[in-house]
Amino acid sequence: MAAGIALLGLAAFGVPVLADALAPLVPAAVEDRLGAATEKQIGYLLGNPPACSAPEGQAALDRLVSRLRGDLPPDLRVSVRRSTTANALTLPGARVIVLSDLIAQAQSPDEFAGVLAHEFGHVAARDPSRALIRSSGIAYLLGYLVGDLAGSAVIVALGENALSASYSREAERAADAYSVAALTRAGGDGAALAILLERIAADTGEDLAFMRSHPFTRERAAAIRALAATAPQPLEGHRPLLDAPSWEALKAICAAPASR
Ligand SMILES: [Zn+2]
Repeated sequence: MAAGIALLGLAAFGVPVLADALAPLVPAAVEDRLGAATEKQIGYLLGNPPACSAPEGQAALDRLVSRLRGDLPPDLRVSVRRSTTANALTLPGARVIVLSDLIAQAQSPDEFAGVLAHEFGHVAARDPSRALIRSSGIAYLLGYLVGDLAGSAVIVALGENALSASYSREAERAADAYSVAALTRAGGDGAALAILLERIAADTGEDLAFMRSHPFTRERAAAIRALAATAPQPLEGHRPLLDAPSWEALKAICAAPASR
């Protein structure tokens, strides 16, 4: 309630540039509703790809998430959907959707973990809420507080935004840094995200959706590698974040009969 009043007060001054200040004030319940509505909309935009949750793959994913999540909110939800698109999306309300071709394109658990932890960086910074406030304006958010906007223009825009999400360069740099920190903290290869991006950038035949929303640059990969190089290294060198059988199980997470 206090946050709602704060939003109203700020809205009265018409200051959408305060998105950075406002994002942390969006009540968790509102974020959750926005996240649920956006997830529905994205499902629609993608042709309702089936959810993937083969038990062994799901267990491997859960293990990986718990190693990477740090102090992210307890309502963090990571789901996989079967898709020929390689991408990962972060929605309001700590929801991360992985499109399964991303797992197929990764050559190691750490490469996949590098992208996942990058998305966790967007969760930690509440970038989806920030982007929502910036693009849709405070009026929409207030509308959502007082009424149900599901299916309305703002939700359509949210879904499209999430699919083509591009945050500011600073936000992307911060998410990259989050990825390096999360992987090294878990004992993995902090440079894994750079390895994945460099390999795919070098292979001109590939054009991952993740890279359309996250343009590859040498500077970006170099920054990731530089951060990883200064991170504390385990004495015995890093070990893959999932053992081989778990990684195989995760790659097969879409193999079993799927439910929505
Ligand atoms: Zn990003």
